[in-house]
Amino acid sequence: DDTLSGDVQPEDIRLEASLRPRTFDEYVGQGAVVEKLKVYVAAARSRGDALDHCLFSGPPGLGKTSLAHIIANELGVGVHVTSGPALEKKGDLAGLLTNLNERDILFIDEIHRLNAAVEEYLYPAMEDFRLDITIDTGPAARAMKIDLPPFTLVGATTRTGLLTSPLRDRFQIQERLEYYEPKFLEQILDRSARILGVPLDRAASREISTRSRGTPRISNRLLRRLRDFAQVEGNGRITYDLAHDSLSRLGVDASGLDAMDRKILLTILEKFGGGPVGVETIAASVGEQRDTIEDVYEPFLMQEGFLMRTPRGRTATLRTYQYFKKTPPPSSPQ
Ligand code: ADP
Repeated sequence: DDTLSGDVQPEDIRLEASLRPRTFDEYVGQGAVVEKLKVYVAAARSRGDALDHCLFSGPPGLGKTSLAHIIANELGVGVHVTSGPALEKKGDLAGLLTNLNERDILFIDEIHRLNAAVEEYLYPAMEDFRLDITIDTGPAARAMKIDLPPFTLVGATTRTGLLTSPLRDRFQIQERLEYYEPKFLEQILDRSARILGVPLDRAASREISTRSRGTPRISNRLLRRLRDFAQVEGNGRITYDLAHDSLSRLGVDASGLDAMDRKILLTILEKFGGGPVGVETIAASVGEQRDTIEDVYEPFLMQEGFLMRTPRGRTATLRTYQYFKKTPPPSSPQ
């Protein structure tokens, strides 16, 4: 299943490690966020303190994990990586926390998916660098407090609204990552092509950048696919023509929409007369999770003007009708 939604496919993991930016200077775009983080990191570093806890939000593949690694690198501390669903029991979290060195980064991806018991256990750790544990059970049970080294929790989530407010409130630094403009994706593609050792023409880089859903992970994934086409069907160089043809064969159209984007829009147009239709209904019709529709697909479709959110549900826009070469109904609002 080669959807371009930005989820991590197993084959991405190795590649992503090699293409991941290591320093703020290598991290392209997100200027306002990076400028602030540089200040916070420099300040914490000069004071010798742990950096305040950071929460990064935004659709998958925009660089949240990369930022956690960069912050650790720039602070000169270790980084420990886990995810909300991986922390099933309090003990899983306790094991990680008690292994931290002073000022280390603990990165929790998909932090909105922590279960309630683990989440509550995290509060005193974040606030007072303390774990409250219970030893023994029954009448012999005793409460104990374990001191932890000062550390920084970096959490990543698609939407801050998915976090409970007690958890969200414990992050002193909260930043939202935005989709990347094509010019930034071009820079990322050029760097990735150099690392992968594949010649990439300027016009080809531009073509990929406008068809990547504003997402570096997708740019890098398309680059790797195009490298295959260039090797097998071309002379190894990614030219504009090769990029243009191969992207169409991969199901990525000129607007950068992928198969699921089109399925969602067509469902609204054809099954629900252009809307309004509830997101739950859309999710059931296209066979995708509601959260994934809301956090991965809709933000891009709305940004590009293909979809509107109204109090009564989602509606197609004039642009959607034009895109599918269909005539909007006469009553259509926009
Ligand atoms: P997220 O954690 O938000 O899902 P990642 O940090 O894993 O995203 O980013 C996915 C990949 O995209 C990284 O491995 C890296 O190659 C690339 N990438 C993301 N953001 C940037 C950036 N600002 N500059 C350069 N490459 C980036």
